[in-house]
Amino acid sequence: MPPADSQPPGQVWAHTGQPFTPRDYGVLVLGAGRMGTACALFLRQLAPPLGVLLVEEGGLPNEEGATLLSPGIWTALDAPAERRAEAQWVRTQLGTAFGDISLQTRALIDLHTMPGIGRVPTRDLGLDAALVTMDSLPWASVHAQAATYRPGALALNAAQAAIRAGANLMLNTRAQLCGDGTVMLERLTVTNTHRIVVHETHRIRAQTIVVALGANGPHAVEHDLGVHTAHARAYRQFPRLNLPSTDRSPLLRAHGLTLRPVSGGYTLVPAIHHRDPAGYEPVGGKLTGVPTGLRRETLEDLVAAMDDLPALATDALETGRSLSDVPGAWFALPDGRPDGLPMHSEVTPNTHLLLGGPKADALGLSVAYDLAARIAGVEERPWDGSATLP
Ligand code: ADP
Repeated sequence: MPPADSQPPGQVWAHTGQPFTPRDYGVLVLGAGRMGTACALFLRQLAPPLGVLLVEEGGLPNEEGATLLSPGIWTALDAPAERRAEAQWVRTQLGTAFGDISLQTRALIDLHTMPGIGRVPTRDLGLDAALVTMDSLPWASVHAQAATYRPGALALNAAQAAIRAGANLMLNTRAQLCGDGTVMLERLTVTNTHRIVVHETHRIRAQTIVVALGANGPHAVEHDLGVHTAHARAYRQFPRLNLPSTDRSPLLRAHGLTLRPVSGGYTLVPAIHHRDPAGYEPVGGKLTGVPTGLRRETLEDLVAAMDDLPALATDALETGRSLSDVPGAWFALPDGRPDGLPMHSEVTPNTHLLLGGPKADALGLSVAYDLAARIAGVEERPWDGSATLP
């Protein structure tokens, strides 16, 4: 078999007008967020003989998935000490392997009330006084080597590279696990009254199935395969803060909130406090009696931080009127934990659940690689043996 880069490119079925003839595949990758697209690409590179079909319910990247809204903040601090070399490998990949993803090295500044080892006076950092009350957060730790990027661009570029390397892609197609090594594919179309309907269904068999359905993944394996998992999900919103930022503005963290510079302003990245219970439907909370588009937990976090981050108490913060005014998405919580790390596990023989979640910015790519390497039967990992950074 010739190497992946000398293969003819794969086929793409974007809409139901393109006839699809089912066949068996080596690997079916379900879900084209960044976890699924990266896994498909690494599979093409590591196991060229395995045919890959990537299936996505929406477009690429899907506007409702976690990938498009993920903050895209790489910092080694998000990896446990023993996995820093792996996170560093991810950082190198972000800079070299995925084309233009708006990668920008910038400092991450953690703001504190108390002095501590390595902390410097906040006043010395030249931060905008409209953003930070220096008197109440007088100490800062500076992590110079953080970076920001666009996870949506990463997923798109990974999918395109996977197709160039021979993977096939079906968009607007919902996948359902059947439990017998097959998957039901429903090709979706929109009627002229804007209803989404199933145009046709196909049943496909694969040697291996990768369930990369984001926050829907745990439910799919539980509901369709009857496998209980400890994973959960949470709805996370990303309000915008209209204060000027540049390519060099640092990331700021205080009160568990991260201010992420983006497109001349900031996106607020709130902490995830807990899993959302099954059946939870996000609803906007009220601020001094006025309805907003922010869920209650996020509002409470912002109110608690207003004294120290004064811009949050001004019109610069877009709180919206209803939920649809504030960008938000469901995130998988690996192991049900708000700080759960990306992971994969074989839930039934040859069916693997692949989860990104809130820390996928730092370790998602390496976990997708690890699963592809495992399916390919490759033992070595490129980050093994690298020096672990402090
Ligand atoms: P991750 O960070 O794990 O890649 P995302 O939420 O970005 O998470 O990606 C999951 C993708 O899976 C989304 O693009 C979503 O549209 C897709 N998806 C979810 N459920 C289904 C399904 N039943 N069939 C096909 N695609 C699905």
